[in-house]
Amino acid sequence: MNEFVNLKTASSSGSAPGLRERREALKRLHEVIQVHRDEMAQRVAEDFGRRATEETLLLEVFPILNGIRHAIAHMEAWMRPRGVAVSWLFKPASAQIVYQPLGVVGIVSAWNYPFWLTFLPLVDALAAGNRVLIKPSEIAPRSADLTGAIIRETFDPAHVNVVTGGPEVSKKFVSLPFDHLLFTGSTRVGKEVMKAAAENLTPLTLELGGKSPAIVHESYSLKTAAERIWTGKLYNAGQTCLAPDYALIPEDKVDEFVDVSRACVARLYPALAENPDYTSIVNQRHYERLMGLIADAMAQGAECLAFHNEGESFGNGSHVMPPVAVKRVTSEMTLMREEIFGPVLPVVPYQSLDDAIAYVNSRPRPLALYYFDNHRKRVNRVLNETVSGGVTVNDVILHVAQSGLPFGGVGPSGMGHYHGEAGFRRMSKEKGVFLQGRIASTAMLRPPYGRLARAMMGFLLK
Ligand code: NAD
Repeated sequence: MNEFVNLKTASSSGSAPGLRERREALKRLHEVIQVHRDEMAQRVAEDFGRRATEETLLLEVFPILNGIRHAIAHMEAWMRPRGVAVSWLFKPASAQIVYQPLGVVGIVSAWNYPFWLTFLPLVDALAAGNRVLIKPSEIAPRSADLTGAIIRETFDPAHVNVVTGGPEVSKKFVSLPFDHLLFTGSTRVGKEVMKAAAENLTPLTLELGGKSPAIVHESYSLKTAAERIWTGKLYNAGQTCLAPDYALIPEDKVDEFVDVSRACVARLYPALAENPDYTSIVNQRHYERLMGLIADAMAQGAECLAFHNEGESFGNGSHVMPPVAVKRVTSEMTLMREEIFGPVLPVVPYQSLDDAIAYVNSRPRPLALYYFDNHRKRVNRVLNETVSGGVTVNDVILHVAQSGLPFGGVGPSGMGHYHGEAGFRRMSKEKGVFLQGRIASTAMLRPPYGRLARAMMGFLLK
C-alpha cells in the first residue's frame, strides 16, 4: 500500500514531532471536527437509515472533542521523562523512562460508532507523536468517506492518511508491518488480525466485544436500575460494544423488572417505529441476525416481549426493531452464547449473589460489567471476584466517558488499553534509560575480584 510506504518513509527520515507540533495537529483536528459535526451526524444517519443527530453529537462528536482537549491539556506532563528510583548499589547514577513515538500506527475501526472509534485512537496516536494510517469500516461507507475528507483537510498524507474498503483491503492492511496496530471489531476477526500481526511481530491493541452483564442486587430500586440499563441498551438501538448484553435479576423480581422496563422504555420512546430518536439497525444482515436470535430463543421455549405501542408496525423495508425483553432463557440459546448487539435484553434470574457471580465467571470475560447496589462491601466483593474490561457501578457505560480511565477489554473482549494517558503510553515506546554517574559505584564489582568485591557480594547475597 503506497499510503503506508509514504508514512513509513517519512517516519524513518524525519525527527519525532515535539510538544508544539503535536498540540497544533490536535487543535487543527478539533477545529475541523467542529466544522463538520452536523455533517458527521447526517452521514451516520444515512448509514444507519436513522439515528438522532443528538445521539451522534453526544456519543461520537463530544467524546472526540473532549479527548482532544484532554490530550492537549495533559500531553506535556505525559511526555516528560519520568525519573525512577535506582538501588543504592548504583548510586549516584539515575534512571528514567523516556516516551518515544513508535512510528506508524494502524487503526482499523468498526461501524457502530464510525467516528468515535476512528478519531479517539487517532488522538492518542498523535499525542504520542506517531504517524497514522486509518481503515474505517465499509459497513458505514458514507461516514468512512467523510472520515477520509476530514483527514485530508486536516493532515499532510505523510502524517495521517486513510484507506477505505472491506475485508479484502483490511486483510492486506493488517498484514503491513505497522509499529502498532489498534483494531476495533469482533472477537472472531480479532483472532485473524492477531495472526496477521504475528508475522511482523506488530504489537496490537484489540478492542473487541462480548456479553457484558448487568447484575441488579435485590436491595436496589428496580425502577432506577431498569431506567439506566434500558437507556444504555437503547443508545444506538443496542449496537454498542458496551451495551448491557443481558440482565441478572433476583428470581422473584423478574416479572416486576420486565413490567418496570416496559414503562421505562415507553417514557424514553413514546413511539418507536417513526421515532427519530430511536436508531435503526444498520443493515438487512444485522436485522435478520437479530430476528434469528429471537426466533431461535422462542423455538427453545423463551418468552419474548416486544415493547412498542399497539398498532405500530415494523419491517416493511425499514430496519427499525423494537426493544425486546426475553424471559426463560437457557445457555443453549444463541442469544446467550453470542454478543447480541441490538435492542434485545435477556433477563436471567438468579438466586443469590454467589450464583450471579458464578454465572458471570463461568462465561468468557466481558468487556464491561455493571452492578447495581449501594452496599459498599458487596460492591467491593463483585469488583474483586469478577474480571472484566471495565465496570460502572449503579449505571452502565459511563466508565468509558472518563478520560482518566484506561479503556479496553480482557481475554476474549480485548487486550491493551487506550484513552488519555493509557493511550499515550500504549502508542509510545516506554524506553528505560540508565544514566551512569561521574563516579560509577559498579566499578567495585569488576575483576580482579578482591576483598571489596567479595564484601559487596556478601551484602548483595544476604
Ligand atoms: P468486524 O470485526 O466485522 O469488523 C471490524 C473491522 O475489521 C472493519 O473495518 C472490517 O473491514 C475489518 N475486517 C473484517 N474482516 C477482516 C479480516 N478478515 N481481517 C482484517 N480486518 C477485517 O466488526 P464490526 O461488525 O465492524 O463491529 C462490531 C464488533 O465490534 C462487535 O463485536 C463490537 O462489540 C465490537 N466493538 C468493540 C468496541 C470496543 O471498543 N471494544 C467498540 C465498538 C465495537
